[in-house]
Amino acid sequence: MVIVTDLEGVLIPEVWEEVARVTGVSELAMTTHDEPDFGRLMDRRVELLSQHDLRLPELSRIAGDVLPYPGATELLAWYRTKAQVMIVSDTFHEFSEQIVQRMGPYNLFANTFRADEEGRVLGYRLRIRGRKDNVIRSLKQIGFRIVAIGDGYNDELMFRMADHPVLFNAPDDLAARIENGTRVTTYEEIRRLIIEVHKLPPLALQSTPAEG
Ligand SMILES: [Mg+2]
Repeated sequence: MVIVTDLEGVLIPEVWEEVARVTGVSELAMTTHDEPDFGRLMDRRVELLSQHDLRLPELSRIAGDVLPYPGATELLAWYRTKAQVMIVSDTFHEFSEQIVQRMGPYNLFANTFRADEEGRVLGYRLRIRGRKDNVIRSLKQIGFRIVAIGDGYNDELMFRMADHPVLFNAPDDLAARIENGTRVTTYEEIRRLIIEVHKLPPLALQSTPAEG
């Protein structure tokens, strides 16, 4: 079993909201709820960072002060007693690597910024955006059962691909579309579900065709 978990909204607060609060640039707090096109949203954020001369070292410092939700560190440690863990997020490594490493030695798969030598953000490289389902598809192809935990619309493809989608404080309309999803509002409920999945027999391994 592999537990694939989203980061923001599940284990930590939304980092852009914190950046907006600390810098006073409130428009940076917009989300995909305000601008559904992620490319346009990111282009606007990059523009705002430039206008206000907010550079990567400062952004990383602000993000580094973000604290995980209470119990999140313990939850990740508990996951590791049951399964492998992957944190797959639309966040940026420059924002969230420090927070993740404070929670433990976990792998973070996220996007990265493009910046010049003085730390001015010029753009971004998307590795995860819109591809969370590919991560899960690949793990399934090599025989893993997947529990996927997320909270938002950007997790929908991941939920569709997972064996056990877990919707943490997710909106009603999203939950209605994920028929095999389990809706939860607490970490305790996630733990209970994982204990049940852990009891299931292992998936049958696909045998390789016999030679000759
Ligand atoms: Mg999220």
